[in-house]
Amino acid sequence: MQLKDKVAIITGAASGIGKEIAIEFAREGAKVCIADLALDAATATANEINASLGDGSGRAMAVAMNVTDEAQVEAGVAATVAQFGGVDILISNAGIQIISPLVDYKFEDWKRMLAIHLDGAFLTTRACMRAMIKAGNGGTILYMGSVHSHEASPLKSAYVAAKHGLIGLAKVVAKEGAKDKIRANVICPGFVRTPLVDKQIPEQAKTLGITEAEVIKNVMLKETVDGEFTTVQDVAETALFLAAFPSNALTGQSITVSHGWHMQ
Ligand code: NAD
Repeated sequence: MQLKDKVAIITGAASGIGKEIAIEFAREGAKVCIADLALDAATATANEINASLGDGSGRAMAVAMNVTDEAQVEAGVAATVAQFGGVDILISNAGIQIISPLVDYKFEDWKRMLAIHLDGAFLTTRACMRAMIKAGNGGTILYMGSVHSHEASPLKSAYVAAKHGLIGLAKVVAKEGAKDKIRANVICPGFVRTPLVDKQIPEQAKTLGITEAEVIKNVMLKETVDGEFTTVQDVAETALFLAAFPSNALTGQSITVSHGWHMQ
C-alpha cells in the first residue's frame, strides 16, 4: 500500500483518467475525494470504489465541484478536510476539449477552455496548498497536462495554450511549495480512449475531411513508436509513482506517457 491513509482530491474523477487514478489510489490505501461537476456521477464513482474495496472503510467520498467556481472549490476542499482530516494529494485533472480552426474559434469557447484548465488548476491548488501548509505534513500536486503541454496540433489553440500553461504553474508551485515540502509535477499523456477523445474522433474527421480510421492512424497515433493508444492504467501508474515519490528531488517536472509520441 504505497498511499496508505493519504488523502487525495481528484478533480474530474467521475470519468476517464481521473476515475482510474481514484480507483488505483484507493487500492493503494488512499482516501479519495471524487470531485466532479455532477454530484450524482461523482457519488456513483465513490460508491463503485467503496464496493470494490469491500472492506467497509468508506475510503471514497464525493463532492460536487465545478473547478472554475471559487466557492465550490473552497467548499469541496473544506468538506474533504472535514471528512478525512486533511489533504495530502491534489490531482488537478478536470478538463474538456473544443476543437476548431483558430480563425473560427469562438471567444467564449477559448475562455471556457482556459477557465476549466487554468482557473481550475489555480483555484484547487490554492485551496489545497493552504490546507497542506496549515497541516504541516507536506503534499503532492499533480496536474494533468498532455503531450500538448509540449507539442502543438492544428485545431487545438486553446487546449495547447492551457496545457502549456500548466507547466509554468507547476514550476512556480514547486518553488513556492518546497519550504513546506509540497511537490508539483505534470503528467503529459498521449491520446487515451476516454469520452473526451471518443467525441473528438468524428469531429476531427469532419473538420479535416478524412475518415475516423484515418484520424486515429494518421493524426492521433501517427507519431507514436508503435501506433498504440496510451491507457488510463498507464496514466494512473504514472500518477501513483509521482504521488508516492518520497522527496523534493522530483518536483517541477513533467513526465510524458505517450508511446513515444513526444520524447523529451
Ligand atoms: P473525460 O471526459 O473522460 O473526463 C473529464 C472529467 O472532467 C468529466 O468527468 C467531466 O465531468 C469533468 N469536468 C469537466 N469540466 C469540469 C469542471 N468545470 N469542473 C469539474 N469537473 C469537470 O476526459 P479524460 O480524457 O479523462 O480527461 C481528463 C484530463 O486528462 C483532462 O485534463 C484532459 O485534458 C487530460 N488528457 C486527456 C487525454 C486523452 O487522450 N484522453 C490526453 C492528455 C490529457
